[in-house]
Amino acid sequence: MEIMNVALLSKWKWRILNDKEAVWHDFLEARYGNIKLKVLVGDSSVVHNNDSIWWRDLITSDNYDNLLLDNFSSSVRVCVGNGESTPFWYAHWIRQHSLMASFPDLFARACDHIINIACAGSFHNSGWRWDVNSIFQQANSVSSLADNMTVGAGLADWISVVNELQQGGSSGCLTAEEVGSRTAAASSTEQQPPTVFGELLRNTELLKDVPDSFSWSLGPDGIFSVKSCYEFLKAKLSGPDLLADKVRAPSKVLFFCWRFIHNRLATRDLLVRRGILNEGSESFCVLCMKEEESRTHLFSNCDVSITVWRRVYMWLGVGDFLSLEEFQDFLYHCDKISCLSKRAILSVAWLATIWTLWLKRNAIIFKEESFSFLECMSEILIISWNWLGSFYKKAPLCNYFGWNTQPLLCFTL
Ligand SMILES: [Zn+2]
Repeated sequence: MEIMNVALLSKWKWRILNDKEAVWHDFLEARYGNIKLKVLVGDSSVVHNNDSIWWRDLITSDNYDNLLLDNFSSSVRVCVGNGESTPFWYAHWIRQHSLMASFPDLFARACDHIINIACAGSFHNSGWRWDVNSIFQQANSVSSLADNMTVGAGLADWISVVNELQQGGSSGCLTAEEVGSRTAAASSTEQQPPTVFGELLRNTELLKDVPDSFSWSLGPDGIFSVKSCYEFLKAKLSGPDLLADKVRAPSKVLFFCWRFIHNRLATRDLLVRRGILNEGSESFCVLCMKEEESRTHLFSNCDVSITVWRRVYMWLGVGDFLSLEEFQDFLYHCDKISCLSKRAILSVAWLATIWTLWLKRNAIIFKEESFSFLECMSEILIISWNWLGSFYKKAPLCNYFGWNTQPLLCFTL
């Protein structure tokens, strides 16, 4: 029943993309802004808690972890015109997968995850020019890409190209052609996503006066049908669903979670295996400086992380339902919590914990910050409060103080 409901809501999304003549179209646009872009992003980062419930449900209707890369948006092929309705990272517009899925490390460093294609460059007399800075914004964020050396040596060359232009006092605008040709010459490693990234952009030309158009990849004629959507969803949702429910967190966090589950985070053990870091002190966990950093160490066995987990566990007060170890592996034990509201709160708290640990680890490495338990805990509380607050009903009288003291009583579905 729920799958049918998602398929029917997908029909609405399809109509928003294609039914320009409908009387409600202008109304929705006036109320919610760039509705096509929002439909193609399809997650909590484009809804607000003062949006109507109908709109929030519509936009996030397929926000399941199983559908993270196989949702409505992934079944829509965009033929790019002026790029105004198409999200740069989320939509399928230049290749089989979205740029978010193809270049996760670049996506993680992008300054604005929901930027549309039209904002990633501009039209000049000679035609469309991409602007790398508007995708990655500042020199700092671009050069910090180099710190996260997860995508092969080609990236360092690519960044030096960008920096050179910025420091040279030019407009800072790098055409995709320059990115593509200069990195192609500079790098010789097997994996060169930045080069591929540059080339993909170079080969795409925008058309100033033509709106973007959309076709449905699951039907023979490119037209949406509820039946094809239903069959697709049914196949995807029948597998094991790790988080069991919809998860209300921004998709960059869900995407991080997906990489966590599949061990695709750039932890130091993996960087050693790829020859980017040397074995020994370079591969040590920056939280404890005692052991090699791996996913298991960083998120489960590290003394520092264990202390954080214990504090979160004590704060939540779930000792009657789950052991500390079970909470650390919440993905595999979430069905022990039968109350859906509590399960939602625990999923979000769990996700906020691994997300914050990862951000803290990155801040130590890339910004030379030091670790503080107090800060770490308050960030976990604040972000989980924000993620839940944008979707769930707050219990009467529940404020941030209540969240601090009795979190499981604060939100209901
Ligand atoms: Zn450690």
